[in-house]
Amino acid sequence: MRAAGRLARFSSLVVGVIAVAAALTTASSHPSRLRAVLAAAPRPASDQPVSGIDADDATGGYWLVASDGGVFAFGAPFEGSTGGLHLNAPIAGIAATSDDAGYWLVGADGGVFAFGDAPYLGSMGGTALQRPVVGIATDAATGGYWLVASDGGVFAFGAPFEGSTGSLHLNAPVVGMAPTADDGGYWLVAADGGVFAFGDARYLGSMGGTPLHRPVVAMAPDRATGGYWLVASDGGVFSFGAPFEGSTGSLVLNRGVVGMAPTDDDGGYWLAGADGGLYALGDARFQGSVAVPPLAGLTVVLDPGHDGGNSGDPGVVNQPIDGGGFTEPCDTTGTATDAGYPEHAFNFAVAQAAQAALEAQGAHVVLTRPDDNSVGPCVNVRAAIGNDVGAAAAVSIHADGGPPGGVGFAVDTPVPVVSSISDDTAIVGPSAQLGSDLRDAFQGVTGEPPSNYAGQDGIDPRRDLGGLNLSTVPKVLIECANMRNSGDAALTESASWRQLAGQGIALGVSDFLQAVERT
Ligand code: ZN
Repeated sequence: MRAAGRLARFSSLVVGVIAVAAALTTASSHPSRLRAVLAAAPRPASDQPVSGIDADDATGGYWLVASDGGVFAFGAPFEGSTGGLHLNAPIAGIAATSDDAGYWLVGADGGVFAFGDAPYLGSMGGTALQRPVVGIATDAATGGYWLVASDGGVFAFGAPFEGSTGSLHLNAPVVGMAPTADDGGYWLVAADGGVFAFGDARYLGSMGGTPLHRPVVAMAPDRATGGYWLVASDGGVFSFGAPFEGSTGSLVLNRGVVGMAPTDDDGGYWLAGADGGLYALGDARFQGSVAVPPLAGLTVVLDPGHDGGNSGDPGVVNQPIDGGGFTEPCDTTGTATDAGYPEHAFNFAVAQAAQAALEAQGAHVVLTRPDDNSVGPCVNVRAAIGNDVGAAAAVSIHADGGPPGGVGFAVDTPVPVVSSISDDTAIVGPSAQLGSDLRDAFQGVTGEPPSNYAGQDGIDPRRDLGGLNLSTVPKVLIECANMRNSGDAALTESASWRQLAGQGIALGVSDFLQAVERT
C-alpha cells in the first residue's frame, strides 16, 4: 500500500539544482561560478520518449533508454546504443549486467541488443509473438536474462525458466518484471497492480482488486528486504515488504512515469518519465535527465476536408461508400464564401498551420491529403489513414456552410454507432475528451464563439458522419466558422486568422494528448 512514510516531492529540476549546488559547495564557494555552472548544466535531448531505466550499482548512476534505442548515461559509463540503427519495434526496456559494465536493450518485438560486457544469448526477434515484449531482467547468478511479454509469457536466455502467466487469463496486461536478490525467481506485475511470484520470489501483496487512479507501469525489487515496489504512471509508489521512500504521485507530470530502478543498498529509487524527467527518491542521487519534446513518439492525423480537384471529378467524388451502416458520397466539394474563397483551401491552410505547431512539440503529423489540387480521398479512406497509423488523435478540419445568421464554431463528436463494417464504441469516450479540449483551446486562441446554430456549447454529437463512425482512434471534426455568414467569412479569408485557427486546433490536440499520457 502507499505508505504514509517520508514523502519526498522533488521535481527533476529542483533535485538537479540541489545536487549541483551540493557538489559545488564542496568544490568552490564562489556564487558567481555556481550560477554559471547551473546555467550551462548539460541536458541531452531525445526526439523519442524515454521507455526505461536501470541503475549502475557500481557507480550510483543510471542509464535511461529512449524508444528509438538511444541510451543516456548519467554517472554511468556509456557502452553503446541502437540510436543509429533502424529498429523493427520500439525499445521497451534496459537491464544492466551484474558488474554494470554493460547492458541489454530489448525491443517490443523481442529483439535483444547487447552492449559492453553483456553477452548476447538469444532473443525472440524474428519470432512472431502473440503479445509485445514489455521488459527485461538480468539473472546476475548466471549472466543470462529473462524477457517478459504483455500476456505474462516469460522467455529465458541463459537463465532458468521459473514460470509464467502465459496460460492464465489476466485482467490487465503485464507491464514489468523484477528478479529476486539471488536470481532464483522473479515477480511479474500487471497494469492493474496484480503481482505474480515465481521461483523463490515471495508474494507480499499487490494492488490487484484495488481501483487505481493510474495504471501500474513498472516494479523494482528491494534486494535488502526481499520485498518490492510498484510504480504507477502518475509516479505513485506502492511498497510491499519494502520501505516507502517517496513518490511523485502529487506532481503533475507532462508524460507518465515509465520505469523504476532501485539504488544499490535499496535505500531509495529513481523514477523515469517518458518526457525524460527523472525523480530521485530516498538515497537515490539525481545525476541528470533528458529533454524530450512533449509530444515525442505520438502520431496525429489531420484531415483537411474536401479537395481542390473534387468539383472537377464528380465521377469519383459522388461514388457511394459505406459510412458505417448508411451510404454517403465518397467526398463532397465543400462550401465557399460569397467572395468565392473555397472551403477546401481554408481547410488545407488551417491543417498546415496546425501541423507546424504540433511538429514543434515533437509530434509526428500525417495529413490525409498532400496538397489542395487533387481529388479526395473518400471519407472512409480518410478514416482508415488515422486507423492504419495508430493515431493518438485525429481531427477533420472544415468550415461550415450554415444559415447566414449563424455564427461560430462547432466540434462534431462521435456517438456509439455499430454497423456490419464498423464499431466506434471504444472511441466515443476519448473522442468526447478530445472534443472538449479542442473546443476550449480553439475558443481561447481564436476568440471565435461556440456556434449559435449547431450543437450546444460548441459540441455537436453526430451519428451521420462516416469519417467519425469508421474511426478506431480518438477523432473529432471541427467546423471552424460559418463561411455563409459575412463576419465569419471575413475571418476565414484572413491568412492570419487561419494561422490562429491552426494553432488553436494544435493546442487542443496537445492538451488532450498530454492529459492522455497521464492516464
Ligand atoms: Zn466541409
